[in-house]
Amino acid sequence: MDTVKKISIVVPVFNEDRSITKLYSRLESIAAELPFQWEYIFVNDGSSDNSFMELKNLAMKDRKVKVLDFSRNFGKEIALTAGAHESQESDATICIDADLQHPPELIPTLIKKWEEGAEVVVTIRTEIAKQPLLRRLGSNIYYWLMRKMSGIDLKAKTTDFRLYDKKVIKAFVRTTERERMFRGIMDWMGFRRSYVEFKADARAEGEAAYSYGKLWRLAVNSFTAFSLWPLRLAGYLGVFISTISGLLFIWMLANYLVFNIWIYTPLAMTVVINTFLIGIVLMALGLVALYVGIIHTEVINRPLYIVRQKISYHE
Ligand code: UDP
Ligand code: MG
Repeated sequence: MDTVKKISIVVPVFNEDRSITKLYSRLESIAAELPFQWEYIFVNDGSSDNSFMELKNLAMKDRKVKVLDFSRNFGKEIALTAGAHESQESDATICIDADLQHPPELIPTLIKKWEEGAEVVVTIRTEIAKQPLLRRLGSNIYYWLMRKMSGIDLKAKTTDFRLYDKKVIKAFVRTTERERMFRGIMDWMGFRRSYVEFKADARAEGEAAYSYGKLWRLAVNSFTAFSLWPLRLAGYLGVFISTISGLLFIWMLANYLVFNIWIYTPLAMTVVINTFLIGIVLMALGLVALYVGIIHTEVINRPLYIVRQKISYHE
């Protein structure tokens, strides 16, 4: 019989003192049913409420509970990263939100998919009760743009509630970029995926800690981290503008030279030439963007490739 596998549950916590005990007891009833060695890693992301005290109490009475206490609020992406680093030795890592929006009751399903061979098990929320229209709209536009720009196959509505195999976590640890989006990096890495759907509840307690401002920053970060497209846009715009105005200019000139008529005012002429020059400037910007793009990819310093496993039978 092989040894018992270890599974870590990573929970980022930011001002969640009202849901921590509820989450814990729901996790406990699931863990009790499944034959694994469990570990709960709570990352306290600079909470200003009683979250840390709650977590400390749990850690004192239950040796499965580990708490990483951040010196300040670093954001969910970093909190998840810290949790993933901490869980490196486990056979699988499950990330779950503390606010009970991710039903822990799904964990057995995630594990089943993992045991069937998936290396990343992704949950998709099919419906969010009471989510404001602006948020839904924003998230749709975001996924559409991301897919277009990054070329990575991102599925809409996937959440951070996921299971990762040890191999994936080990690879993840090698990524060094600072402005990061956790699941973006995970999606970039590939690996065998499997999807599970669930219906999301509205937040059980408190306010969504991600303000629109934070969401916006996250979105911008993931654009710049996964695509150089915005940078190149200026260049393409320049090409477009210069082509149109250049053609117009030639047309004006041709009219004059061929038919010997000059029907354009000097102002019209100036505008066309000016527009042409603006196009040139934009193209130059696009050119700069190409160089910046190269610097950008060097700086984020992703590992060049990620190997799932190495096989050699004759060493
Ligand atoms: N969170 C965190 N740091 C932050 C913001 C949020 O660790 O700066 C945690 C939060 O406690 C929760 C999870 O990340 O466990 C998701 O946060 P939230 O519910 O606000 O985001 P949403 O559900 O809108 O994705
Ligand atoms: Mg939430």
